[in-house]
Amino acid sequence: MAISFFKQKNGDELIENRPIIHLREVNKYYKTAIGDYHALEGVDLQINAGEFVSIIGKSGSGKTTLLNMITGIDRPTTGEVWVNNTAVHGMNENKMARWRGKNLGIVFQFFQLLPMISVIENIMLPMDFCRTYPMNERRKRAMELLELVELADHAHKLPTALSGGQQQRVAIARALANDPPVVIADEPTGNLDSKTAESVFALFNDLVAKGKTIIIVTHDSGLAKRTHRTALIADGEIVNEYVAKAMPTLTASQLLQATKTAKILTYEAGAMILAEGTNADTFYIVSKGTVEVILPRPNQSDVIALQLGSGKCFGEMEFFHETKHRASIRASEAGPVEALAIGYEQLSELLDQSEATHEALRQMANKHAGENLSWRGISS
Ligand code: ADP
Ligand code: MG
Repeated sequence: MAISFFKQKNGDELIENRPIIHLREVNKYYKTAIGDYHALEGVDLQINAGEFVSIIGKSGSGKTTLLNMITGIDRPTTGEVWVNNTAVHGMNENKMARWRGKNLGIVFQFFQLLPMISVIENIMLPMDFCRTYPMNERRKRAMELLELVELADHAHKLPTALSGGQQQRVAIARALANDPPVVIADEPTGNLDSKTAESVFALFNDLVAKGKTIIIVTHDSGLAKRTHRTALIADGEIVNEYVAKAMPTLTASQLLQATKTAKILTYEAGAMILAEGTNADTFYIVSKGTVEVILPRPNQSDVIALQLGSGKCFGEMEFFHETKHRASIRASEAGPVEALAIGYEQLSELLDQSEATHEALRQMANKHAGENLSWRGISS
């Protein structure tokens, strides 16, 4: 996948504005009795500050392994992991624990609170470890965090005296102890009933509103849909999110096949992508920017019939109906465009495997063909 940094003008200098989390070409092999197991394969992932991202995928697909790369709990075999401008892949163990304590809040499925000390002491522990707040402020801060998760009344109980949902809220308060910019949660609602899961999710939403960056692994596709963005992982590889958006009825492994097949093409703002009348052989999915569908009209100026943003596709009409393009496609003047290109032969192979996707694309093609005719009708 293409890597892009957007550059921001700051005074006279151009400053590279990295995403807060950036994985580049990450591969992870586990050593096993029967040889190396390739758990993550060429993973590229960028997450911007303030984003709320969900990671979904089957059990065993590599979700926890991916989180462990970000938290530094484990290391990639090859590739780079940058978190908050720090090279996590190159950090030594001594530095890692304190760095992690200050930069990341980690929430686990089974809470992992220390059972022998009180709730408030659990929350003070990361502050003690990282010495982030003066000793005499730590208790007050822990109390404020307990108020945030609505558990101030339970401060002096042992964790086991609390329900699962309450324990998970304590774990979230603990994750926030050092005010880290990023919170990472591995199936935080996986062990909770749906009502309790909802209250934990609401808490994450509040934190995102306060500017935190949050990544959650979840099995709950309903919850995933309510985050800003979902990364689907299949067999250790990340499915392109725009491929998933364009063809939502493909299975995870079919989406992965489509992701691997797709070629990434980039165009300058205003550049012509396809000319009307040329031979059609490729299906496109917009992955960045906006493209314009331009129809020629006899004796009149061309008309912009449609604007397509990311996740929208073109070239499907010609796949079903025509061999030549019935419209021109141009990158909008507003900015550069990136598109994923899948040849018709590969598209055929994919659609042969998914009746639902075949039908959805065919209907879209029919709709676009109808629109195309009516635009031409207007002009005649
Ligand atoms: P998920 O969280 O999506 O269920 P994991 O990241 O835990 O998946 O695991 C991905 C794959 O890697 C699984 O097949 C798992 O068995 C394997 N795996 C995970 N940890 C280890 C390990 N320490 N040693 C060997 N194989 C592992
Ligand atoms: Mg897991």
